[in-house]
Amino acid sequence: MRCLNWHCWSLWSDASQNDHLLFVINGLEMKRTRINRERLKDTFIRLAETESPSRHESELAALLSQIFSTELGAEVSFDDSSIETGSDSGNMVVRLEGSRPVKPLFFNAHLDTVEPCRSVKVSFMNGVFKSQGDTILGADDKAAIAILIEVARVLQEGQIEHGPLEFLFTVCEEIGLLGAKALDPAFLEADAGYALDSTDINKLFNKAPAAVRTEIRVFGKAAHAGINPEAGINAIQLAARALAGVPQGRIDELTTCNTGVIRGGTATNIVPDLVEIKGEVRSHDEKMLRKVQDQILAAFHKEIMEVRARNSSGKEAPPSLPRVESEVFNDYPLMRVPEDHPLVVTAKEAASQLGRSMESVATGGGSDANILNSKGKATVILGVGMQNVHSTEEYILLDDMTATAELVLQIIHNWHEK
Ligand SMILES: [Zn+2]
Repeated sequence: MRCLNWHCWSLWSDASQNDHLLFVINGLEMKRTRINRERLKDTFIRLAETESPSRHESELAALLSQIFSTELGAEVSFDDSSIETGSDSGNMVVRLEGSRPVKPLFFNAHLDTVEPCRSVKVSFMNGVFKSQGDTILGADDKAAIAILIEVARVLQEGQIEHGPLEFLFTVCEEIGLLGAKALDPAFLEADAGYALDSTDINKLFNKAPAAVRTEIRVFGKAAHAGINPEAGINAIQLAARALAGVPQGRIDELTTCNTGVIRGGTATNIVPDLVEIKGEVRSHDEKMLRKVQDQILAAFHKEIMEVRARNSSGKEAPPSLPRVESEVFNDYPLMRVPEDHPLVVTAKEAASQLGRSMESVATGGGSDANILNSKGKATVILGVGMQNVHSTEEYILLDDMTATAELVLQIIHNWHEK
């Protein structure tokens, strides 16, 4: 326990009851409330058992609307991003009015889950949530949503003073951050916030790589492989030669590259005339990202040009085949929130007040936070305890969810940006 000053509250856990108490000292009156683990557990199970595959988030959004608007009296609104995302729901923002004159602060989680996520049945044993083994659990990212619901309930029933808060629930995160990409930043009043969407509850992610996806099509020329192979140009062989010169794996400390999909050819007796190759590059260094991207494209162009040069000897015009088409998609931009940013400082301070240590680190993945940062909404990522995500082995501990709820409350209490 700490901090028993005027207008100050403290938070600690009582291990004997395995419960978590929150004391509010407000003037001379002391109000008492607690993070209700049983309620948090029930909320999480209810959310996890509500289907919300990407583009079909409306059922979950309706449930959240009911909880936040009907039960908690918060303002709930949806944007019109569904035109762009193809989802049956827009991104959702919940606004909790604040009584403190500080800048608004947001918390972000995503509504959608990856497959298999139909008819999830949650099992809860010895403090651990799991699915029945035939679906994901959906702690990614419903644990975060359940935590935010519990936080809102505790704030309300404890009549705890706080600044204006916004909870941003995005759609289609799992299929390319589509909801965040379609979000009009003006839809959020807050310019700074926390995304609750990672594993380790003692880590804060303030750096994430930028990523590009490459799609390359190599065009050869079809011919009968047995009767007239001389007339053909084998696109598979061309692509294979080019791929031998494409960087793979960890390129340097900050950069990775992967060729992940190759598709081509139709039958063994036909010289293949088309191969498609898909890959990605990620880097914490924008220049290196572009350099590796260029190396990939150059490897294909070099191969094509060599074949063309060989085939064109003696001819006037260069042949139109083989040919290469390439497209590069900017998947998500670099994310970098400085160590001295109030978001980082506030979270670390909150953790230390709770007797925990919090490390700020870089993640190798991209998330809504990358997109929000690029739209002028400073965002860092916090872990909620989800484990083995995107698999039927996914699980999460109620203890970790409770600890995250405590941290979020402490952050809200500490947020004093003006
Ligand atoms: Zn997630």
